[in-house]
Amino acid sequence: MIKGNFPIEKFKNIETPFYYYDVELLNKTLELINRCSKENNIDVHYAVKANANKKVLSIISKAGLGADCVSGNEVLAAINAGFPASKIVFAGVGKTDKEINIALDNDIFCFNAESVPELEVINELAKAKGKIANVEIRVNPNIDAHTHKKITTGLNENKFGFNMDELQSVCQLISNSTNLNLLGLHFHIGSQITDLNAYECLCVRINELQDQFDSWGVKIKNINVGGGLGINYEHPNHIPIADFESYFRILTKYLKLRDGQKLHCEPGRSVVAQCGSLITKVTYVKQGVNKQFAIVDAGMTDLIRPALYDAYHRIENISSDLEEETYDVVGPICESSDVFDKDVELNKTKRGDYLAIRSAGAYGEIMASNYNLRKLPQGYLSTEL
Ligand SMILES: *Cc1c(COP(=O)(O)O)cnc(C)c1O
Repeated sequence: MIKGNFPIEKFKNIETPFYYYDVELLNKTLELINRCSKENNIDVHYAVKANANKKVLSIISKAGLGADCVSGNEVLAAINAGFPASKIVFAGVGKTDKEINIALDNDIFCFNAESVPELEVINELAKAKGKIANVEIRVNPNIDAHTHKKITTGLNENKFGFNMDELQSVCQLISNSTNLNLLGLHFHIGSQITDLNAYECLCVRINELQDQFDSWGVKIKNINVGGGLGINYEHPNHIPIADFESYFRILTKYLKLRDGQKLHCEPGRSVVAQCGSLITKVTYVKQGVNKQFAIVDAGMTDLIRPALYDAYHRIENISSDLEEETYDVVGPICESSDVFDKDVELNKTKRGDYLAIRSAGAYGEIMASNYNLRKLPQGYLSTEL
């Protein structure tokens, strides 16, 4: 079995389970993003919600990316990690007054607004501070990203964004609001998108919308296509970096940008997923009726994606090279969905072995909980061990 490279000797002094981040891979990913985004003239804002570990955020901000935030605390975390406020965008259907004020006080780049009452509140709060808030209209383009139903966001039935038939009146509202400035249009159609045709469809839809905005005489400065680029969960060793080249090429090929318009995007998962692994120790190997279970010390509280979205993560026994056997890899939590995967081929496994649950850098550590009064897993960079 092909496995990742892990400094297992150095793991001996660290309490399991924990997240391990391969800094070399993260930096290679960021270098590719920087090269391709410069070639295609795209501003990239990292979606902080995928992983807000301080050390990871600081590497991403040093690489020069902007930040895409979905809460006031994410805005503050981004600023603390060194992201310039002028590169921070703020989305979310339920921004509270407190969160909007945090964003206004820090003079972020723009709000990605999702409803009429939200625009009214941003206008009021900006007026109270004597500021002009930049807003982008988040449009729900009614495009099926062909991804898991719990992570698709661009269909009419989803709660996100404005529907296309209300856009003209929203433009009117913004131009009548003394303290709002319409900066652009924002889209985000879902996550873990591996069929890049979805982005081609999005570009076609955006071109149609741009024609409408032209006919209304409304000027749009920025087009923000959101995030969602998928990664390869099956083969993290063979395909460790997402296909940013094709993604950016499709965007620039199909989008008909107007003079002076700037393209923005907000990848999260594709930036950080592959550099992270959840490292866990086998507590027991238990013989079942027709099965054997590897019971590990990590659970759904540390990595909830399998339980929440039926997500697949490759699992490797990084301390055994014996012949392979079949195991169900399960956690200790009192929930029957606390299963990382069933019928997994692992090198023969014993108590005390280390397993690496791969591609866990996105929506892993950040979604951990204290359920069963468990400790939150810590995250370590490869460079600090
Ligand atoms: C979650 C989210 C992203 C990032 O999505 P990924 O699938 O992780 O790339 C980008 N933009 C918005 C508005 C989001 O909510």
